[in-house]
Amino acid sequence: SKKTVVITGASSGLGLQAAKSLAQQGWQVIMACRDFQKAEKAAKEVGMDPENYQVIHCDLASKQSVRNFVQTFRTMYNSLDALVCNAAVYFPNAHKEGVILPGLFPGGGPRWSAEGHEMSFAANYLGHFLLCKLLLEDLKKSSFSAPRCVILGTVTATVNGAELGGMIPPLAHVGNFEGLEKGMKAPVTMLDGGAFDGAKAYKDSKVCDVMLMKELHKRYHKETGIVFTSLYPGCIAETNLFREHYPLFQNLFPAFHKTVTKAYVSQEEAGQRLAACVADERYGTSGSYYSWEGEAGTGGGGGREAVQNTEKDLDWFMNYGSFRTLSIDEIGGEAADDQRCSKLWELSEKLVA
Ligand code: NDP
Repeated sequence: SKKTVVITGASSGLGLQAAKSLAQQGWQVIMACRDFQKAEKAAKEVGMDPENYQVIHCDLASKQSVRNFVQTFRTMYNSLDALVCNAAVYFPNAHKEGVILPGLFPGGGPRWSAEGHEMSFAANYLGHFLLCKLLLEDLKKSSFSAPRCVILGTVTATVNGAELGGMIPPLAHVGNFEGLEKGMKAPVTMLDGGAFDGAKAYKDSKVCDVMLMKELHKRYHKETGIVFTSLYPGCIAETNLFREHYPLFQNLFPAFHKTVTKAYVSQEEAGQRLAACVADERYGTSGSYYSWEGEAGTGGGGGREAVQNTEKDLDWFMNYGSFRTLSIDEIGGEAADDQRCSKLWELSEKLVA
C-alpha cells in the first residue's frame, strides 16, 4: 500500500511543491490546509492526480481545528508514515501601532489565534506542537522502518551563526520565555515579553520550531524510531510568505538573494528538496538540521555552474550536497540550549491542555 504523508500549508509555495513531488513518487499526500477551496485549486493547478492526494481541513491557529483534523484523518487512515510541519505566516510590517511612522509601516498591530495567542506563535509553532503530539500515535503505527517528522526552520532563526541571513535585525530572541510564562495572551505578544514586532515574532516562532524538533528527538526518537529533522530550504523569495511585504521589497528580494546571498531557490527546487527530506534515505538521521547553502555552499559555484548546463534533477541536488548538515549538538543560537527547549515543551503543554 502507499506511504502516507501529512503536509501542513500545502496550498501554496514550498508545501504545495513538496506535495506534488511526493505524489509523483507514489505517496498518498494528505494536505492539511485552512482554505479547502484554495488547496483543491492549487493541487489541480500543479497537475496533481486526485488519486494521490486528499485535502483535510486544518487551521493551525485553533486547537479545536487541529484536534478535528486528527480525528478526521483517523477515520480514513490507520497509520501515518511522515509528517511535514510547513505552514507559516509572516507579518513583516506589523509593529505596535503608533510607534513607527504609520505611512511607512502600515501593518498594524498583532493578530490573534482562536485561543487568543499572537498569530505567528500560534500558527507557526503552537498548532504544530499539538499536531506533532497527537500524530505521534499514528506515526508509531507506521510500517515504514523509520517514519519521519520534518519541521521547517529558517536561516533567520539564527541556529547557524555563520549565515548572513541570520544576522539581519530584528534578531530572533525568545529570551527565557518570559512572555510565554505569562500565557502569551494580550497584552503579551512576544515570547520574551518585549514589544511587538511582526518580523521578530516570525523568527522567534521558527526558533521554537527548531527547539520542537530537538525536543521531539530527545523524548521520542529512541523509543519510537521516528526520525525528527528540520531544514532551511534556501530562500524561496517568491512564495506567498512575503505577501504582506512592501511591493518594492517583493521586487528586489529575489534579485538580492540571487546575487548577494546566493541562497535563492525556486519553489519547485525547494519543494523537491523538502520531499527528499521526507523520502530519501540520506536524510534519515534524527536530530539533524539541514541548511541549504545554495551556490555559496558549493565553494564559489563549481557544481552549480555545471548544473546550469545540464538538467536540474533531484539527483543533482543530492549528489552535490548543498545542504549543510548540523547534527543535533551543532544547532546553535538560542535553540542550542537544551534547558530552554524543555521549558518551551512544558509551557506549550499547558497551553494546549
Ligand atoms: P507560503 O506563504 O507560500 O505558504 C504558507 C502555507 O501555510 C500556506 O499554505 C498557508 O495557507 C499556510 N498557513 C498559514 N497559516 C495557516 C494556518 N493557520 N493553518 C493552516 N495553514 C496555514 O510560504 P512558504 O511556502 O514560503 O513557506 C513554507 C515554509 O517554509 C514556512 O515554514 C516558512 O517558514 C519556511 N521558509 C520559507 C522560506 C522562503 O524563503 N519562502 C525561507 C525559509 C523558511 P493559505 O494558502 O491558506 O494562506
